Amino acid sequence: MSTIARLYEALGSDAVLTAPEDLSVYAYDAYSQERLPLAVVLPRDARDVADVVRIAYECGEPIVPRGAGTGLCGGAVPVEGGIVISFARMNRVLALDARNRRARVQPGVINLELSKAAAPFGLFFGPDPSSQKISTLGGNTGTNAGGPHALSYGSMTNHVLGVEYVRTDGSLSYAALDGAGYDLTGVLVGSEGTLGVITAIDVRLLRLPRSTRVCVAAFGDVEAASAAVSAIVGAGLLPTALEIMDKLIVSAVEAHYHAGYPTDAGAVLLVEIAGYPDDAESGERTIAQIARECGALSWRAAAGAAEREALWASRKGAAGSLGRIAPNYYIQDATVPRTRLPQALQRVDEIARAHKLPVGNVFHAGDGNLHPLLIFDRRERAQVDAVASAGKAILEACIALGGTISGEHGIGYEKRETLPLVFSPDDLAAMARLRDVFDPKRLFNPEKIFPSGAVCGEVRNPAQTQSQRQTLAAGGAWL
Ligand SMILES: Cc1cc2nc3c(=O)[nH]c(=O)nc-3n(C[C@H](O)[C@H](O)[C@H](O)COP(=O)(O)OP(=O)(O)OC[C@H]3O[C@@H](n4cnc5c(N)ncnc54)[C@H](O)[C@@H]3O)c2cc1C
Repeated sequence: MSTIARLYEALGSDAVLTAPEDLSVYAYDAYSQERLPLAVVLPRDARDVADVVRIAYECGEPIVPRGAGTGLCGGAVPVEGGIVISFARMNRVLALDARNRRARVQPGVINLELSKAAAPFGLFFGPDPSSQKISTLGGNTGTNAGGPHALSYGSMTNHVLGVEYVRTDGSLSYAALDGAGYDLTGVLVGSEGTLGVITAIDVRLLRLPRSTRVCVAAFGDVEAASAAVSAIVGAGLLPTALEIMDKLIVSAVEAHYHAGYPTDAGAVLLVEIAGYPDDAESGERTIAQIARECGALSWRAAAGAAEREALWASRKGAAGSLGRIAPNYYIQDATVPRTRLPQALQRVDEIARAHKLPVGNVFHAGDGNLHPLLIFDRRERAQVDAVASAGKAILEACIALGGTISGEHGIGYEKRETLPLVFSPDDLAAMARLRDVFDPKRLFNPEKIFPSGAVCGEVRNPAQTQSQRQTLAAGGAWL
C-alpha cells in the first residue's frame, strides 16, 4: 500500500491533503524557500500524530511539523518533500490550573490565545513573539521563541515545564522539567522538529502585573538609544521590555498605526516597567533620568491602557508596516553583548551602505538582539544577491563583536551553513550524535539546523572512513 493510502486509512480522507493547490499552501513559511510536500495531514489528537509518524518512518518519508508557518528561517518548509503535519486542528487549551499557575496546551494553540484564556484568572503567558497573534505554541517551542518581554521573563525554554512528543516508532513519550535525570525538555525546546513531534506542552503561567507603565523616549540616533539601554541595565534596573526602533521603522509604523511615536527622532526607545504601582512609578522616574543623561530628547508615558496597547501594537506590527515602503524585506536575527550594540549598529549601517541597501532597525535592545531589516525588490537578481551577502556580513560582524547567529528565530534551513561560524566540528558532531539517538534515519525535519554536504564532511564521526565520507558527500546526505 502506498504511503498516501496508508495515511487515508489511518486518519480518514478529510485529514489528508494531496491536491497540488492544497499542498502549495504548505510549501513555504516566512522565509523564501519553497517545496511541495507529498502530503499534508491534519491530525485531531496525539494518536493521529503517532500513526502518521509511524507510517512515515516505515515508508522512509520526511516528517515536517508545522505550526502557523511564521518561522523566518524555513524551519517548516518541507525541503525534502515528505509529510507535513499541520497542527491547525490541535488547537485546544487542555487544562488550566490557575492555583499552580500552569497550563497544558495542544501545539496548535495560538500564543496570544493562551494569555486570553489565562486573563480571567489574573495570569498570562510570558513569551510574546511579535507574531503572537498568529504563531503557535508548538512553533514557539520548536524555535525556542523569544519576544519583547524575553528581557525580563525569558524565552520559551524558561516557560516550558514538559512536553509530550512522538518518537520515530510512533510511541508517545513525556519529558518533564521536574523529572529526575537528563533535562530532555531543554533538549526538545528549540529542536525545530528534528528530534520528535510535540503533541502537548505544559507551560508556566505568570501573574499579571498590578501596574504597567509604557514610555517612549526619543533619541538623536540608534547608537545613543542603545547606549541608554546599556546604562539602564548597568544601573541594576530591569524593565520588562526595552525595545528600539530607528527613524525608518518609526515612519513606516506611524503611517500605519498613528500611535504617536515621534517621527522626527533618529530613534525611539520603548520602555515597559511593570510591578506594584509604587515600584513602577519610581522605576519610571529613575529610568527617565538615566535616559535624559544619555541624551534623550523627550520622554513620554502612555496615559492609559488604550495608549499602551497602541504603542505595543505598532511595535509588534513594525515588520508588517514595511509593506508600505518596500516590495520585500529580509529580517536578520543576531545578538551581541548589550554593551556592543552601538558598534554593531554602526557595522550594520556600513554593511547596508556597502551593499546599497536601505536598512531599518527594530530590535529587542535589552537582550542585545538585533533585527536589521534590509529592504529590497526580489524581482531584481542583483538586489537578492546583495541581501544574501549583507545578511552574512552582518552575522560575521556580530560574531566578531562577541555575539551569535540567532537570538530567537532559530537556524532552520536558512542559517544551517553558518552554524560552523559559532560551533567547532567537535561540537557539531556531538549535536549530530544526539540527533541520531532520537532519529537514526534523520527523517524528522531533514536538512534543518545542521550544515549540508561538504561542510559536514568536517563534522562527521572521526571513525568514518574516507570512502564513506565521499559517498555521503556525493549523495548530499550529511554526516
Ligand atoms: C512579523 C513576524 C514577527 C516575528 N517576531 C518574532 C519574535 O518577536 N520572536 C521570535 O522568537 N520569533 C518571531 N518571529 C518568528 C516566528 O513567528 C517564530 O519563530 C514562531 O515561533 C514560529 O511559530 P509558528 O507557529 O509559525 O511555527 P512554524 O513556523 O510553523 O514552525 C517553526 C519550527 O517549529 C517546528 N514545529 C512546529 N510545530 C511543532 C511541533 N508540534 N513539534 C515539533 N516541532 C514543531 C517546525 O518544524 C519549525 O522547525 C516573527 C515572525 C514574523 C513573521
